[in-house]
Amino acid sequence: MKNTIQSILSKYWGYNNFRPFQEKAISSILDSKDTLTVLPTGGGKSICFQLPALICEGMAVIISPLISLMKDQVDYLKDIGIAAECLNSSLNSADRIKIMNRIKSGDLKFLYLAPERLRLESMKEFLKDVKLSFFVIDEAHCISHWGHDFREDYRSLGIIKDEFEGVCVHAFTATATGRVQEDIVKQLKLESPHFYIDSVDRPNLTYRMLRRSGNLIGRIVEVIKKHPNEAGIIYCLRRADVDSISEKLNSLGYKNLPYHAGLAGEVRKKNQDKFSAEKVSIITATIAFGMGIDRSNIRYIIHAAMPKSIEHYQQETGRAGRDGLPADCYMFYSGSDYRTWEHILADSSQSQIMIEKLKAMYNFCGRPGCRHRYLISYFNQDYKKENCQACDYCLGEFDMIDEPLAVAQKILACVKQVREKFGANHVVEILKGNLTDNIKRWKHDQLSVFSSLASETKVFIRNMVEQLLEQGILSRENEFQTLFIADLGYNVLSGEMIPRLAKPVTIQKRKEVEKKRKIRHDIDWEDIDEQLFEALRAKRRQLAAEKNVPAYIILGDKTLKDMTRIKPVSREEFSTIFGIGEVKLNQYSEIFTKIIKEYLVLETQANFIDEADKKS
Ligand code: ADP
Repeated sequence: MKNTIQSILSKYWGYNNFRPFQEKAISSILDSKDTLTVLPTGGGKSICFQLPALICEGMAVIISPLISLMKDQVDYLKDIGIAAECLNSSLNSADRIKIMNRIKSGDLKFLYLAPERLRLESMKEFLKDVKLSFFVIDEAHCISHWGHDFREDYRSLGIIKDEFEGVCVHAFTATATGRVQEDIVKQLKLESPHFYIDSVDRPNLTYRMLRRSGNLIGRIVEVIKKHPNEAGIIYCLRRADVDSISEKLNSLGYKNLPYHAGLAGEVRKKNQDKFSAEKVSIITATIAFGMGIDRSNIRYIIHAAMPKSIEHYQQETGRAGRDGLPADCYMFYSGSDYRTWEHILADSSQSQIMIEKLKAMYNFCGRPGCRHRYLISYFNQDYKKENCQACDYCLGEFDMIDEPLAVAQKILACVKQVREKFGANHVVEILKGNLTDNIKRWKHDQLSVFSSLASETKVFIRNMVEQLLEQGILSRENEFQTLFIADLGYNVLSGEMIPRLAKPVTIQKRKEVEKKRKIRHDIDWEDIDEQLFEALRAKRRQLAAEKNVPAYIILGDKTLKDMTRIKPVSREEFSTIFGIGEVKLNQYSEIFTKIIKEYLVLETQANFIDEADKKS
């Protein structure tokens, strides 16, 4: 069997090896055991169920929450030569009948369905007469109230076990805490399922949390400039922010399209299609731009504001680098995002849980420490690396202060001495030792903490206050933004807990960081011919437009990069490229080797002219 699955992998997908967990998940499915697999985005979930379905007798039914997701997977399967279809509202009745006839005649290996369609009595009856290999529930976290993206229709999927006796159910998701996992098993009525829980870590993503101050557009532009011609998403909190940021960027010459629920359905679809087809590189969006994003080469995500939970952050940043190549995630956050969410969530039916999640998110932003470790621990997993080499903290982009406990205790003592009745500005002035009118009026110059941080700048002290707020050591409450000592603050006052405090980033530090970043970028592109890469990309874009599918369905960036390294000029050489299976070889070898040959001729001519110039 090992040889069979290995040869199917290389025949259809063109990969030489499985990722470690894939083989295990595949063999459980082949052993007819229910399974729950939790793998990060880009981890390679699809192969885990697509490959065994090719071996099992009958057709696999895949439940997927979005039409765009289904279309994407079906297009991909067809392009590698596998019979797959979806039944959804976008089809006319003639097409639907055609597909149903193909199902009846046992012609299809995969049928993609939305959960609401499976609930229809007529659909269930129809499927009961069909030989089914198994059911797959994709994006299974949608079934749980404890997850995000909760979908009422997913709740009804327990019927599969009741009505399709003996048919296995396999659940897949990218983000599920322990609680969500339990809920998935319970709701789907999985029978002694096998669990495959891989680390939710995304080592190819570099996380950076930056406090939002000054000119946000300028800072967004700085990021875009680091990624010329590369795909990126800018996430905003409100629709109005999307409109204004999108407009400003366009007026500055950074072409981008907006996406939010306030736009007409056809405008949204058009914008998303242009992004998928690589006709535009940047989308400015609210979280409505979600699960259905079908582009695997997104190289950066910018959060123009903080999301409401780590689950959301993980999901949104998870859209970057699905091809396994490096990608950057930048977050511009501020205390005002926290307050906006707090206000919005106060009315939610589960406000207490939501506020806890919000606090964890804010803490994640404001606590200088390894970002990968924090994310992984949040999902109850261990992080084994000492240094992730892929976050602002581990890349040395912070300067930690020497005596965090002493500084924090002085700030907390000040808040206590003013009896938790004043805001941050006043507290900063006291610690700095300024005789403002308010300080004279309240005689706060007589407090023992007065001028206890006199040697620091006001900017520094304010920055420390903000970090204590972000880390849940101080809290800011009521309409006057009064500072209070939070529960954790007492642990700091007693010396049981030492906060992590970093100095504000100086211009010098930013320059150093930039230099290091550039060196890393150059290493990523070391043996890749960027000019040839662009030529291959243009061809891919053209083919995608002709077939009306997203560009990555044709070939992924990893495949194009491999081509620029190996420069195959024959069918045989082309077959050794990463991601080239039998069908892709037949379809694309001639087209791409032709471009490479032409490029090599031009390169030789250019070298020849160079040599001649040198001699003359
Ligand atoms: P997920 O559904 O978990 O987000 P996908 O199934 O879309 O991930 O796979 C992510 C990427 O990894 C795709 O480009 C896929 O082709 C690639 N991939 C999956 N398995 C392998 C493998 N064994 N070897 C190489 N690439 C793989």
